[in-house]
Amino acid sequence: NQSLHELDPDVAKAVDAELHRQQSTLEMIASENFAPVAVMEAQGSVLTNKYAEGYPGRRYYGGCEHVDVTEQIAIDRVKELFGAEYANVQPHSGASANQAALFALAKPGDTILGLDLAHGGHLTHGMRLNFSGKQFDVVAYHVDDNGLVDMAELERLAKEHRPKVIIAGWSAYPRRLDFAEFRRIADEVEAYLWVDMAHFAGLVAAGLHPNPVPYADVVTSTTHKTLGGPRGGIILAKKDFAKKLNSSVFPGFQGGPLEHVIAAKAVSFKVAASEDFKERQQRTIEGARILAERLTSEDARAHGVNVLSGGTDVHLVLVDLRDSELDGQQAEDRLHEVGITVNRNAVPNDPRPPMVTSGLRIGTPALATRGFTAEDFTEVADVIAEALKPSYDVDALKARVTALAEKHPLYPGL
Ligand code: PLP
Repeated sequence: NQSLHELDPDVAKAVDAELHRQQSTLEMIASENFAPVAVMEAQGSVLTNKYAEGYPGRRYYGGCEHVDVTEQIAIDRVKELFGAEYANVQPHSGASANQAALFALAKPGDTILGLDLAHGGHLTHGMRLNFSGKQFDVVAYHVDDNGLVDMAELERLAKEHRPKVIIAGWSAYPRRLDFAEFRRIADEVEAYLWVDMAHFAGLVAAGLHPNPVPYADVVTSTTHKTLGGPRGGIILAKKDFAKKLNSSVFPGFQGGPLEHVIAAKAVSFKVAASEDFKERQQRTIEGARILAERLTSEDARAHGVNVLSGGTDVHLVLVDLRDSELDGQQAEDRLHEVGITVNRNAVPNDPRPPMVTSGLRIGTPALATRGFTAEDFTEVADVIAEALKPSYDVDALKARVTALAEKHPLYPGL
């Protein structure tokens, strides 16, 4: 019964250092969040010891009576949260959920139509080196010159290639998708519609973003982004797809489910149904709007900084540095230097190479979870705008970041 510090001081030291990093800097990677302590408690529980191949009530192992309870709670809660007829809470990650979903809807060699990676899509939506790109015949749609998904191109490509599956969803896109229009196009070419809501699931749960569930045949998500739970994936669907999806997850791609993570998912779904969660998602979106406003101001544009699509409806902003002397890498490094963590991101038709890029993706979910208000986000936006100017005062900006971090302590007592 040795503690981590006693048994393995090397690993303990790195974990402590990571806690300190999270507490003392501003986390603005759009796909990250801070899970509640109760979620981490479930995830670090004895449920990690249990094998439970199969589904609640139909397991291939004995002793599953308690994990049956937690898994069924997770299923019931997530169905209720999103109004879904079916839910599978076993996918180990977003990519695992997407793999299981795609293979339930199509077979290798079939055509799939997804948003180009360089235009905001995800690896699992057909990237060349991913299973989706290697095993399926991929056609990609794009965003237009205003940074909005080109629905006319999507319809044209759908009619021309008659894909088996149309994928709606993104990893880097600041606007809402028109799910009804995706559905209309999918119906027109008799394709399945799969929505990957990994990024915006928390906004949907809070009722602040259209819910794709009524429109899509299958919806996948991660549970750790805006949704704020443990690292993992889920699949939601119409009940006609239940059998295929269950067997695609297990035994199709996975063995034993991570019941400790599933229990943590259950806890996070309870949190996501609360009024506090809704208020937090409102601050998340408000923070992103404040950021977009500051980074499209005259002052920002005078230094070559702008925002793709001119603003945001969600939890992230895509900064456009095509006119800036700074490239994405330099901008990411600068913000890191002052204590703000973001990731560089290619903009559509990026003139700079993929490892450098001409953009940044900046998200507000983690800071909103920390309690940041509109006033705090205004200060964050100003620090970012100042750091992206040709000359900037590192120490002064660092001090402003530290003041914000100290104003909103993260995981006090841990
Ligand atoms: N789908 C989308 C839209 C994503 O943005 C991501 C992760 O960034 C994933 C799926 C994959 O999730 P994971 O990293 O858990 O495999």
